[in-house]
Amino acid sequence: MTTTKTADVDGTLAQVYALAGAGADIVRITCNEVEAAQGLAEIVPRSPVPIIADIHYQYRLALAAMEAGVQGLRLNPGNIRKEDQIKTVAKEARDRGLPIRIGVNAGSLDKDLMEKHGAPVPEALVESALIEARYLEEVDFTDIKISVKHSNVRQMIASYRLLADAVDYPLHLGVTEAGPPPGGLIKSVAGIGTLLNEGIGDTIRFSLTADPVEEAKAGRQLLEFLGLRERKGLDLIACPSCGRAEVDVIEVATRAQEALEAANLPIQVAVMGCVVNGPGEAREADIGIAAGRGRGHLFIKGQVVRVVPEEEMVEALLDEAQKLVDEGLDARLAHAEANAEEIAAAERRQLIEIRGDANQSAQRRARVAEVAGGD
Ligand code: SF4
Repeated sequence: MTTTKTADVDGTLAQVYALAGAGADIVRITCNEVEAAQGLAEIVPRSPVPIIADIHYQYRLALAAMEAGVQGLRLNPGNIRKEDQIKTVAKEARDRGLPIRIGVNAGSLDKDLMEKHGAPVPEALVESALIEARYLEEVDFTDIKISVKHSNVRQMIASYRLLADAVDYPLHLGVTEAGPPPGGLIKSVAGIGTLLNEGIGDTIRFSLTADPVEEAKAGRQLLEFLGLRERKGLDLIACPSCGRAEVDVIEVATRAQEALEAANLPIQVAVMGCVVNGPGEAREADIGIAAGRGRGHLFIKGQVVRVVPEEEMVEALLDEAQKLVDEGLDARLAHAEANAEEIAAAERRQLIEIRGDANQSAQRRARVAEVAGGD
């Protein structure tokens, strides 16, 4: 959702483009005054993605937003409460072929339902959504999507589960007012991720107290990590570092992330703190770098292909990543330096001698053999 004043057409469009670039497929924009609706009339035709008008309190602004050309509406049943007004909007949306999201929010629940239930409990949120859905259905409007957002993650999950049992309409997921990262991210991932894994949910939004581009990025990444959306950008994995690290993993990972994000390569890249366990632990990554003794070991699918001075690690990683994207896996493996694996193996052995084997495999094997051979 944009955070600019909608009347500021250029500012809002710039944000819409930034959101679309970060992975947003739909952008919601507030339509809270006549000037906002007028702004939408200029924004919608120039937007790269469908625009949803966010409507509270004034049903006439929903009519104005449709006239401005938006591709959908979000209505809050908690503050547009008159049945005839809701039906007027629904009829207009029906005639224009536009969808409506019934956007119930625990923080702005219908006051009658608040009184009836005493708190914005899941039953109250779902009841609000069902009442609104009935109004829409009564005028033959069924192009409906529903959300029942709550700021409490457990209540949010319970609300959507209840709703999913009650209706077949598509559901839009979100933890409302999740707050700034990292807490806001964790709440959103916990709530949205749990439901998506249960097969509940059709669209999502992270509501963070942050630049909305962060919301779009986080939402896209969650979908990619859950395998619900094809990865289009970088996936950087990095080891958490430990006493065995031969390099400042955080610093190298940060530099690599900045460089690779700028290059926008659609690959999984690993940054590992040591060559002892790094290439093996990250063998699923397309490409990665592991630190040896003053050197960086560049690996592709777990195979070490180049050894470079430590200060050239990030540049070498970027160079090889670009070549991997351009030339493909087989071509790059064919270009592997002949002795790279040997050098890596030798350094691995040296490091194990100096620091010991973190997994203590030799001792464990000996102990197992001892127990197995005992009488
Ligand atoms: S890759 Fe090496 S430095 Fe990183 S966590 Fe594993 S053992 Fe530690």
